[in-house]
Amino acid sequence: MRRVLMGVLAGLALLAGPVLALDVVATSPSMGALVRAVAPGAGLTVLAGPQQDLHMLQAKPSMIRALRGADLLVAVGAELEVGWLPAASSGAANPAILPGREGYFEAAAQVPLLDVGGPADRAMGDMHPAGNPHVDLDPVRMAQVAEALGERMAQLDAANAAAYRRNAARFAEAVSERVPAWQARLQDAPGVVLYHRDAVYLLERFGVPLLGTIEPVPGVPPSGRDLRALAGKLRGRDGIIIHAPYQAPKGPRKLGRELGWPVQTLPLEPPVDADGDGYLRHIDRWVSTIATAG
Ligand SMILES: [Zn+2]
Repeated sequence: MRRVLMGVLAGLALLAGPVLALDVVATSPSMGALVRAVAPGAGLTVLAGPQQDLHMLQAKPSMIRALRGADLLVAVGAELEVGWLPAASSGAANPAILPGREGYFEAAAQVPLLDVGGPADRAMGDMHPAGNPHVDLDPVRMAQVAEALGERMAQLDAANAAAYRRNAARFAEAVSERVPAWQARLQDAPGVVLYHRDAVYLLERFGVPLLGTIEPVPGVPPSGRDLRALAGKLRGRDGIIIHAPYQAPKGPRKLGRELGWPVQTLPLEPPVDADGDGYLRHIDRWVSTIATAG
């Protein structure tokens, strides 16, 4: 009977096109974009919008509801969501999506991390004790993450394994096609001051100098003395200051005035409804902003 039923289901699937059976929760818009790229038909809830700081969210009942029925939780990882995701997951009472299970996927666990083993630790206020979690602004790492995600989805939903793998490969190919143009545009970029060490993966990928950060240590706001020291170090150079919408604009503006540099507010994340193409446009936007700073 079961075999007959499976046969009927397979027949229906052929008629209707692939049924992507997974119910997925992504913590951030960039993770949501990857899920849409790899599994465009999957059910998807994205827990945070691009205006929110993933370090600082609070577990909410709506998150717990979304996690309760999920087959797969896609997180950035490396402790980025440590302040709220464990609480939301345990509230959801869904063991299938807990760390270590097949239904839990971390982007940061799939790729080499930057800022590992630095001198700072949480006691000094450093928010990145496990290495820098902000891998999602490096499109090449994101392509690797997409392929790992495709494999994970293939394990969870074997009937659609080929579709997940094909979609992931297509996303990785779209990234590779764009890398030379991004690299060319950033060739002579003078460099960037960030608020937080969040876009460092993008800068490192394309060899753009990181000239400094407004925060002296990740998660620690700057003092007047920190800003004066940074201005003293950078006076006479060219560059651009970029900060996220939720990062206090006062420090960036003060430094911008002192140095005569442009100050840009750019979201770290693509729009909440972005798919793979939306993610690539988000990288385009960052590349354009950095390239026009010279
Ligand atoms: Zn951070």
